[in-house]
Amino acid sequence: MVKSFPLNIHDELLFLRDIGFTHLDIQVRESTKAQEEAPAGPLPQTNTILNAITIDELRNLALPCQRCRLAGPRTQVVYGTGNPNADLMFIGEAPGRDEDIKGEPFVGRAGQLLTDIIKAMKLTRDDVYIANVIKCRPPENRNPEPDELDACRPYIRKQIEFIKPKVIVTLGKFALQSLTGKVYAVSAARGVWTKYDDIKVMPTYHPAYLLRTPSAKKDVWTDMKKVMTELGIDHSA
Ligand code: URA
Repeated sequence: MVKSFPLNIHDELLFLRDIGFTHLDIQVRESTKAQEEAPAGPLPQTNTILNAITIDELRNLALPCQRCRLAGPRTQVVYGTGNPNADLMFIGEAPGRDEDIKGEPFVGRAGQLLTDIIKAMKLTRDDVYIANVIKCRPPENRNPEPDELDACRPYIRKQIEFIKPKVIVTLGKFALQSLTGKVYAVSAARGVWTKYDDIKVMPTYHPAYLLRTPSAKKDVWTDMKKVMTELGIDHSA
């Protein structure tokens, strides 16, 4: 096998070992100046993220992340917040202006509504874990691009792996799309259990949509009652 290594050779070698290589036939060439100056590629590399051993290591990789174009305009990375041992994880789309400034997910108007939903479920924000599939604010709150979702996906994958929630609630189209790889209309997907690995996933509307369409709040409450039942929380009163 002849392989031309990127500058981050350590990650590449770990990857090859993980997929079963025990020996490499390496052709060593003198590097040219251009090669020496070539960028190492978007950092951190996917394998480095997927090999993180603790949730703190993962956060430390995320905070200086340069994996996509959203790194440029952001104020800060919005990694996630809450109970790292939560049974319930809410996953939204991407930080907005307030979140970009504060570094915490769902702290603006939509966030207040999410906090109210969590309270109505007889829980607090400290009981659950809240994160987004995109960790940096898209300019003017535009929709995330497919390559941005791809670049950020290793972080949410690892967050889910560390937290191991019993239930995930996806908020809106892009959260569901990023986890399942499929494009759904939330109006069709909501309220119906689906799965991410072995974890039950309840898709529902995004709180920002509820701010524009208050009549949909009753649908979200129907969905959250299913989640409460699954978690053993009484919603009869
Ligand atoms: N909308 C999201 O999807 N996430 C946030 O953190 C804030 C608004």
